[in-house]
Amino acid sequence: MNGDWERVLRLAEAKVGKHNSEAWLRPIRPLGLQDGGFHLEVPTPFFKDWILGNFAAPVREAIAETFGQPTSLVFHVQDKQQGELFEAAQPSPLPPASKPSGRKKTGLVQNFTFSSFVVGGCNQFAHAAATAVGKRPGDSYNPLFVYGGVGLGKTHLINAIGHATLGRDGRERIMYLSSEAFTNELVVHIQRNRMTEFKNKFRRADVLIVDDVQFLSGRERTQEEFFHTFNSLHESNKQIVLSSDTAPEDITGLEERLRNRFESGLIADIQPPDLETRCAILKKKARAKRLDLPDEVALFIASRVTSNVRQLEGALTRLAALAALHQKTDITLDFARQVLKHLSVKPKTVSIAHIQQTVADHFGVSVKDLTSRRRTKRVTFPRQIGMYLSRKLTGASYPTIGSHFGGRDHTTVLHACKSIAKRLESDMELSDSVRKLEALTDT
Ligand code: ADP
Ligand code: MG
Repeated sequence: MNGDWERVLRLAEAKVGKHNSEAWLRPIRPLGLQDGGFHLEVPTPFFKDWILGNFAAPVREAIAETFGQPTSLVFHVQDKQQGELFEAAQPSPLPPASKPSGRKKTGLVQNFTFSSFVVGGCNQFAHAAATAVGKRPGDSYNPLFVYGGVGLGKTHLINAIGHATLGRDGRERIMYLSSEAFTNELVVHIQRNRMTEFKNKFRRADVLIVDDVQFLSGRERTQEEFFHTFNSLHESNKQIVLSSDTAPEDITGLEERLRNRFESGLIADIQPPDLETRCAILKKKARAKRLDLPDEVALFIASRVTSNVRQLEGALTRLAALAALHQKTDITLDFARQVLKHLSVKPKTVSIAHIQQTVADHFGVSVKDLTSRRRTKRVTFPRQIGMYLSRKLTGASYPTIGSHFGGRDHTTVLHACKSIAKRLESDMELSDSVRKLEALTDT
């Protein structure tokens, strides 16, 4: 039996690599063939899960080759008193050995990858740090500590690190969990008197990603265990990634020694996204939902939901749902206005001054130009647009608008409004930028 098992190990090792074989296959105690299944004893349930998730195929193949028959694997867990039998892994279908399918076990959120993450000024630094860590875990910034407000993409970004590491080498052991889940695990293991298992579980990770570490606040026992886990991983150059809603120095109820550890690597913050980034995020999310989102609608949503990406997504989801409900094939600004009336940022009454500022910024002139007597084309055209938008968005009378634009006659305003309205019918480019200006001012 021993010689045969050695052969199984050698065959499997050729597929999973020496490192994995040492860590995961060597500790297996072979019990032998029985009832068409190959019985194996492993130290812990986690071990069983990990082997099933990552190395079941190479082990089965090696057994089949050595013993000349295909077989399922039957696991027994050593530290269970009654030698409890665990679920058997069926011989087929066989996942490819080169791509272990242990992904479910990582805890990572599937869609939170780098490719679905929009980079802007607000998160550029954190993103750069995260990609560096994803490329060379344990090597560059350890720990990487990402912090920022609610819904700004921390969870997304730290998951992306996990996916990137997985993608590079399917055998890395990635563990993603929230600090609350860590606490729960600890409690369960303490209750069942299985602390060794707990320690092994986390110290075995190649990349440990712990989300929302601010929830460690005030939990002394968890902090103590986390401290030891942290040290053990750090000493063996395993990557640690942490997120929190504040910087380490601002987490209350955190032991000083843990705070020091958190501050010992790279700290990167994420700020609320600017208008441009919010638009880009909306467009990207819309594409993922196969939703055709016109620029001006994106701009409209982005200018109303200003602080939280999760809310941005919520608005988009609502829009998509209602569009489907009303069987609308194209999403217009009017439709968006209608269905997103509830958005927390209520439209202010738009002032003519605000319109002037927006128009001036857009055309690269000054508000003074708009209200001056100057009649060069560079300023007359933006001025007309300003008048048109003032009429449309504020409903002010022609004389009132005239007085805001340098004391002009009401007929001048009337003429401007008519001529712009007419041009909008045929000039696509113009109507595009006017719609954008509308979305921008209407906040
Ligand atoms: P946090 O953990 O900071 O509270 P999340 O990572 O859960 O925030 O992000 C909330 C939502 O916003 C998620 O659906 C996420 O995909 C999305 N999101 C946040 N920032 C970005 C970004 N820069 N690009 C794409 N999606 C983002
Ligand atoms: Mg989060």
